[in-house]
Amino acid sequence: MSTYKRVAIMGTGTMGPGMGAVLARAGMEVALYDVSAEALDRAKTGYDLASGVLDRLGTKTIDGGSVRYASDVAAALGGAELVLEAVPEKLDLKKQVFAEYERHVGPSVILASNTSGIPVTKIAADLERPDRVIGMHWSNPPHLIPMIEIIPGQKTSEAAKAGTASIVEDVGYYPCFLKKEVPGFVENRVLYAIMRECLALIDEGVIGREELDLNVKWGIGYKLSVIPPMQLLDMAGLDIYSSVASYLNPDLSNSAEVSSTIRDLTSQGRLGIKTKGGIFDYTDEQIGQLRAERAMKLVAVRKALG
Ligand code: NAD
Repeated sequence: MSTYKRVAIMGTGTMGPGMGAVLARAGMEVALYDVSAEALDRAKTGYDLASGVLDRLGTKTIDGGSVRYASDVAAALGGAELVLEAVPEKLDLKKQVFAEYERHVGPSVILASNTSGIPVTKIAADLERPDRVIGMHWSNPPHLIPMIEIIPGQKTSEAAKAGTASIVEDVGYYPCFLKKEVPGFVENRVLYAIMRECLALIDEGVIGREELDLNVKWGIGYKLSVIPPMQLLDMAGLDIYSSVASYLNPDLSNSAEVSSTIRDLTSQGRLGIKTKGGIFDYTDEQIGQLRAERAMKLVAVRKALG
C-alpha cells in the first residue's frame, strides 16, 4: 500500500468522474474540481454511474475512500498528495494550470497529467519544480480499462515515478512505464497505426465497413486480448513474421494524410455518435443500448481475462 491517500482531480469532463470513482473505491479521499459549475454537477452522475460499474465488476471497497466536489482551486488542492490534471488537451492551458497548482501545493506533492500525448517535459518546462511532474495516462473508460501509462519527463524524479506506480497498484491497475517520451505515447500510437491501415483498406475499396469491423473484432481483436503482440510473435514464429513482413511492410499504408473517408464524413458534419451519424447511423434508442451493452461486455471480458 502506498502512503498516498488524498487526490485532487482537476477537470471533470469525460475522464475525471471515472478516475475519481476508481481512486475513492481504493480508499482515497478524492476532490473533484472543474471551472464549469455545470460540468461539476454532471460529474456527480458520471461518478455514480462509474461506481455502479465498479460494483458490477466486484471491485473491492477499501475503507476511508470518499469524494467531494470543489468549486474552488485552493479548496480542491488543500491537503492533496497527488494532483491529477484532466483539463482539455491544450499545451498552453496545461502549462497555465500546472503553474497554478505549483503555487498551492507543497514540494512533495506529485503533479500528474492525464494528457493523451503532450510531452510532460513541455508541460513542466517553466515550473520551479519540474521533477514532481509526470504523465499518468488513463484509458477511456477509466473505470473499466485497468492499464495506466506512466510517462516520466526528462526531469521527473525517482520519487514521483515510484509514488505514481504505487498509486496505480493500490487501485488494482497495471502501471505501464514508458522509457522515453514519444508523441501519442504507446497506446495511441498502436491504436492509430491500426486505424490508419483499417481506413486505408476502406478508402481503397478492399472491404466494406461492417466486414472490416467483423474481421478485426473476431480476428486480431479477440486474439490480442489473450495473446498480446510480443507473445503472438513467438507463437507465430519469428522466421514466419520476417518473411511476411519483408513483402507486406512495404505495401502497408504509410500515409501522413487523414483518410478520405473520414475527411468526407467530417465535412458533412457526420462526427459519430455525438451527431447521431458518422461511419454508421444511430437512433437515440440505439445509442442508449450500445452504451449499456458495451459496458456490460467490457465488464464480462475483464472478468474473463482476470
Ligand atoms: P473533456 O473536455 O471532456 O473535459 C475537460 C474538463 O476540464 C471540462 O469539464 C472543462 O470544463 C474542464 N476545464 C477546462 N479548463 C479547466 C481548468 N482551468 N481547471 C479545471 N477544469 C477545467 O476532456 P476529457 O476527455 O476528460 O480529457 C481530459 C484530459 O484527459 C485530456 O488531456 C485528454 O487528452 C485526456 N484523455 C482523454 C481521453 C478520452 O477518451 N476522452 C482518454 C485519455 C486521456
